[in-house]
Amino acid sequence: MIRNVVCGLSLMAVAMGAGCQSNSATTGDVAQKVQSKPCVVVWSEGTAPKEVYPNDINGAIAEGLKDLKGWDVVVAGIDDPEQGLPDDLLNRADVLIWWGHKRHDQVKDELVAKIVKRVKEDGMGFISLHSSHFAKPNKALMGTPCTWGAYLGDSTTLKVTVSDPKHPIAKGVKEFTVEHNERYSDPYAVPAAESVVFEGVASLKDGGVDPSKQGFTWHVGKGKFFYFQVGHETNPIFFDANVKKIMINAVKWAAPEK
Ligand code: ZN
Repeated sequence: MIRNVVCGLSLMAVAMGAGCQSNSATTGDVAQKVQSKPCVVVWSEGTAPKEVYPNDINGAIAEGLKDLKGWDVVVAGIDDPEQGLPDDLLNRADVLIWWGHKRHDQVKDELVAKIVKRVKEDGMGFISLHSSHFAKPNKALMGTPCTWGAYLGDSTTLKVTVSDPKHPIAKGVKEFTVEHNERYSDPYAVPAAESVVFEGVASLKDGGVDPSKQGFTWHVGKGKFFYFQVGHETNPIFFDANVKKIMINAVKWAAPEK
């Protein structure tokens, strides 16, 4: 894992305008063979409770991505310089994962415009988690209010089911249940999804249940977009093996084809 460090730039790669590259074996004086390594940036705003997420949610997700072989996983946050996404990092990111809740308004519009451009024009993948449904980049990419039907803190568990088993994000994922203390109820005010990969049933304290959609995919311009409803900050779901698998699958799916 790399924290706020863009990997070393070879002069050759810079001269080629290739962004950040890692060099493989060099044999000649100028004959450098440069090979790009895909990069995922995991961004969050530092508001998750430390007793649940000691390294915040970006740290937990990055830890879960350690099995993503051959990728650079970069942790970034709103309190880092340039809100964690300086141009050189944003421009080399193949996929950006976003978790925000209380600090949406602090994200600079200029940064949001750059993210939208990277997704729509360059094909950067975007993965939006839980309360990021109201994050500025989420709303800008969807172009809709992105509201849920209801927000209630009366659930105890959520059973996540796979509703599109052939989708790459569902690969190897079976039905599973997680601790759950906050539910968003259907409908989600977004454009029609290309796939609803996951659905779920929340069990409520009063014995009732609330079924709702949990995972959606779209193409936005050239980029792929995945929204996952699960991920309330008091529930340690980003340490769950099933969710880790979903994050890995989602990064692979969202990456632009090169
Ligand atoms: Zn929440």
